[in-house]
Amino acid sequence: MFRIIFFMQKKIAVLAGDGIGPEVMREAIKVLDKIAVIFDHKFLYNEELVGGAAYDVYGEHLPQKTLDACSDCDAILFGSVGGPVDKQTEKKWQGVEKNALLGLRKKFNLYANLRPIYLYKPLIELSVLKNNIVENGVDVMILRELTGGIYFGEHKTYMDNGEEVAIDIMSYKESEIRRIIKLAVEIAEKRNKKITVVDKANVLDCSLLWRKITKEFAQKNKNVDFEFMYVDNAAMQLMKNPNYFDVLLTENMFGDILSDLGSVISGSLGMAPSASLNDKNFGLFEPIGGSAQDIAGINIANPIAQILSAALMLKYSFSMIKEGEAIENAVINVLEKGIRTGDIYREGLRKVRTMEMGDYIAEAIVRDH
Ligand code: NAD
Repeated sequence: MFRIIFFMQKKIAVLAGDGIGPEVMREAIKVLDKIAVIFDHKFLYNEELVGGAAYDVYGEHLPQKTLDACSDCDAILFGSVGGPVDKQTEKKWQGVEKNALLGLRKKFNLYANLRPIYLYKPLIELSVLKNNIVENGVDVMILRELTGGIYFGEHKTYMDNGEEVAIDIMSYKESEIRRIIKLAVEIAEKRNKKITVVDKANVLDCSLLWRKITKEFAQKNKNVDFEFMYVDNAAMQLMKNPNYFDVLLTENMFGDILSDLGSVISGSLGMAPSASLNDKNFGLFEPIGGSAQDIAGINIANPIAQILSAALMLKYSFSMIKEGEAIENAVINVLEKGIRTGDIYREGLRKVRTMEMGDYIAEAIVRDH
């Protein structure tokens, strides 16, 4: 039988960073290499320093050389940055996350943050939620606007009548709302075709504008169901019945809080990937956890969040949907066999180290068509 060879070449900026970053990144590259072989693609990796690792060499957390490498690539695969929790005040670590991540978000205009909240069936008992709520697993996509809203408005503190007053301004432009709703529609169309816009429209003008624009999209996209929910109710529903949601779309601050709340559903920080995209589908893909310095360098970190971040990169930046799904299926396959790193281990299963987990997942990748 002949197979049509469909060759694609992609350049990936690999910024492993600090702590467990380099260890879990190695496993993600191992998995990508397997994808390249099986699907006849070519991935070129441009490895650069970021965070404390970059500070040691260049005296800054996001050197120009790293930015240039990212500009020259089709996507950024990011590990994590940051020092040990008790060393945050040392110069090397001061402001590292802000300098590295905000710097990259700003440079590449990464306005959309995707946080898939997956709970794989074999990990149900690790979830903070009761078994009867999550018995079929969880699959929700939280989509957070990342470059507007209150975090980017004016902040000021001043004296008024002898007392201090602080203000923070939340604002949104129509264009900022439109581009993320458009992306939400594209994502929902590939999922269960439902978008819940989470807001506080009983109090905020920003939310009213989001609603007005959402309704325009709803008129034009009848194949997708749109609904609105207040953020306080959404927080409650996310815990009571997470699968009620398909795509949960929200503004920056609400998304910050809800996505962290959602992340506890998946059982371990070592399981949770994320993506930040711009309007050209260029993106930064990273685990949501940090550099986990408490377990760094001893080959016990869970590489799955990094590996699933690579899967998101394939799907969202390179439109390699089948390839991304092949990685996700390999992860499920390995979990179903009871193979676990320490953070997701329970008695009776097979405990493995970081490198073995990467080996098992790479081995489990198949092309089924
Ligand atoms: P953390 O997310 O690094 O770790 C929290 C806990 O989860 C730790 O016990 C850690 O061992 C565990 N954990 C995290 N990832 C894991 C994995 N893949 N496998 C197994 N266990 C895992 O948070 P922290 O310890 O509070 O922060 C450490 C450093 O990371 C700090 O400097 C912080 O500022 C930084 N940080 C960076 C990012 C980022 O790069 N995006 C995000 C959060 C925190």
